[in-house]
Amino acid sequence: MIILKCPECGYIDSKVVDSRPTDSRIRRRRECINCGYRFTTYEMVENIPLMVIKKDNSIEPFNREKLIDRILRAAVKRPVNVGIIEDMVESIVQELKNKLIREVSSDKIGEMVLHRLKDVDVVAYIRFASVYREFSDIDSFLKIITELSTDIK
Ligand SMILES: [Zn+2]
Repeated sequence: MIILKCPECGYIDSKVVDSRPTDSRIRRRRECINCGYRFTTYEMVENIPLMVIKKDNSIEPFNREKLIDRILRAAVKRPVNVGIIEDMVESIVQELKNKLIREVSSDKIGEMVLHRLKDVDVVAYIRFASVYREFSDIDSFLKIITELSTDIK
């Protein structure tokens, strides 16, 4: 709980006279109980859905199932079980929450998946990277395989 002091007299209690949500915070008009001074605060609210900024700059709510599904497709016929993928997605969500991140690019999420997938299954890693980084030629594949072999050494 944050203490919002009156900017005029420093009194610690105020009443809310108006409240409206903005992008990721709530804008509140407060009135000091001591001197009646009105001021505006922007307060963070918990449980605001994580939003994903996509490559075309559109924004949509983060969808756990959709991400799990994408990773599963990269892991087809690989020894990777759904539980591992669910944990992976959960740890990504937690990491973002811990950093108080409310908007994240799909690129960043992709990188976070790759970072975890690398240690789980190299084939799934390459498949996921090829879709997410939109590999269009053999050079892109060779590049990531070179990166991988450098890491393994
Ligand atoms: Zn006051």
